[in-house]
Amino acid sequence: MVDKNSRGSRAPFRRGLVWLRNDLRCADNTALYRADKGSDALAAVFIACPETWRSHGDGDNVVAFRLRSLQHLQQDLAARNIPLYFLELSTFAQVPAALAQLAHKLHVDAVFANAEYPLNERKRDEAVRESLREVGVPVEYCTDRTLIPPGSLTTNSGDGFKVFTPFKRAFIARHGDEAMDPLPAPRARSGDHLQLWPEWQALEAENNLVRTIPKTVGDYGVPAGGAERVLDWPVGEAAGLAHLETFSEKVDDYLKLRDFPGVEGTSRLSPYLNCGAVSIRQCVKMALAENGGHWVGKSEGASTWLSELLWREFYQHLVVNFPRVCRNQPFKPETEQVPWSRSKHDFERWCAGETGVPIVDAAMRQLNRTGWMHNRLRMVVASFLTKNLLIDWRRGEHYFMQQLVDADFAANNGGWQWAASTGTDAVPYFRVFNPYSQSKKFDAEGDFIRVFVPELARLSARDIHCPPPVDGYPPPMCNVTDSRKHAIEVFANLKS
Ligand SMILES: Cc1cc2nc3c(=O)[nH]c(=O)nc-3n(C[C@H](O)[C@H](O)[C@H](O)COP(=O)(O)OP(=O)(O)OC[C@H]3O[C@@H](n4cnc5c(N)ncnc54)[C@H](O)[C@@H]3O)c2cc1C
Repeated sequence: MVDKNSRGSRAPFRRGLVWLRNDLRCADNTALYRADKGSDALAAVFIACPETWRSHGDGDNVVAFRLRSLQHLQQDLAARNIPLYFLELSTFAQVPAALAQLAHKLHVDAVFANAEYPLNERKRDEAVRESLREVGVPVEYCTDRTLIPPGSLTTNSGDGFKVFTPFKRAFIARHGDEAMDPLPAPRARSGDHLQLWPEWQALEAENNLVRTIPKTVGDYGVPAGGAERVLDWPVGEAAGLAHLETFSEKVDDYLKLRDFPGVEGTSRLSPYLNCGAVSIRQCVKMALAENGGHWVGKSEGASTWLSELLWREFYQHLVVNFPRVCRNQPFKPETEQVPWSRSKHDFERWCAGETGVPIVDAAMRQLNRTGWMHNRLRMVVASFLTKNLLIDWRRGEHYFMQQLVDADFAANNGGWQWAASTGTDAVPYFRVFNPYSQSKKFDAEGDFIRVFVPELARLSARDIHCPPPVDGYPPPMCNVTDSRKHAIEVFANLKS
């Protein structure tokens, strides 16, 4: 797919249609900006594909967050007299024909969308380009989810980067001086601006195109059971930006605090970044401002946070440069030989947070209850599942997609493959986190464990990490020293 750089120029046209996806905001939305600039009449459409979402592993939490964010965006656009229509289909395969029909009947001059990078999304977008071409409507896919187009940053030999640190170095060397200024929100239209465009009324009547965004689509429901606290996350662009603003006051302390799950030391912006309520450029701009305009600068906290934003960028690029990771395959092909355990029982104990290893259980219960998990703990539980229990990373990856309110294919797949040593980690397979030492180091007093594992609340800071037998709490399901040794042997014996 060709990513047209958003800031180029094109001939003026009158009717613009923005196809919104995971970019649910008004400000600094490249596709919306491009459409706004060139059209007299402007409308937006969002297409839900619940069957495809389900097949991609998206769970109730992330879909509910997406739909709630969309409702907010609809209000924000309505305040500018820009209508947002909602169309429910079932699969991506239906999108090209539906969009072509819409564009044709509406006499649209151009369609704009922000590029998405996993393989199925790219295939869908190419099919849409083709179907729109048949009805004479151009589509422009803009770079917006990432700072630069994936595929544009390569090694000296022209390949995609396989390791984060050289990627980061090259990014800063080539783009570190760019301003990355956010774009303005679209201008308000007059209340009768859609009178320029009477075909909409007819379409609303004949299609299942609606203005009311449903709370549920397909078989997705409002998150049930233990995850009800997912609904505590405020949604929408204003909420996301308020979050960013609050974090800007703490970013200097990020390096000091970011590894402690019991402390609010990270931004918790991931759900907003993933549904697009906040843009990556808005985040970068804030951090650069705190850092004297440099990627590596006066604030260790801001420099480290900017580096984390580049991890996000790295994984988005990876899915384009190495599409096999979108096909359920490991980044390192030889790791397909790992004889993964098929134990349903062990997997279910891990999912439920009943492993008998307190920090792992606290983390999994945080996930199940809130739809979010601290980054340090994502690494700890992923290492525990894939190394100590030797369970296939794809099962953990899927479970995270099901539960996370910030589920994102590129970051999740990248994180899981990193932890399982099937991915891009520069350190070889012998990186196995010891959950007990991680617990002592990053939750020294056991306060985080106490919140999520109340069975252990009465234990002292000394005992809580590796507790003596406690009524109602299981003994550890494996010996971490022996299982670590076994995992290392398994990986050492893989034939390259
Ligand atoms: C096994 C595993 C699975 C993960 N699954 C996801 C996922 O589905 N969605 C997701 O957004 N992140 C995922 N991450 C990355 C990371 O854990 C989260 O982005 C982070 O915990 C979100 O919290 P925050 O917004 O407070 O992050 P902060 O520490 O404030 O970081 C700011 C932003 O940088 C990005 N970021 C930070 N660390 C990473 C990283 N290691 N990889 C990619 N992006 C990063 C995120 O967009 C994050 O919001 C995963 C990590 C692991 C190890």
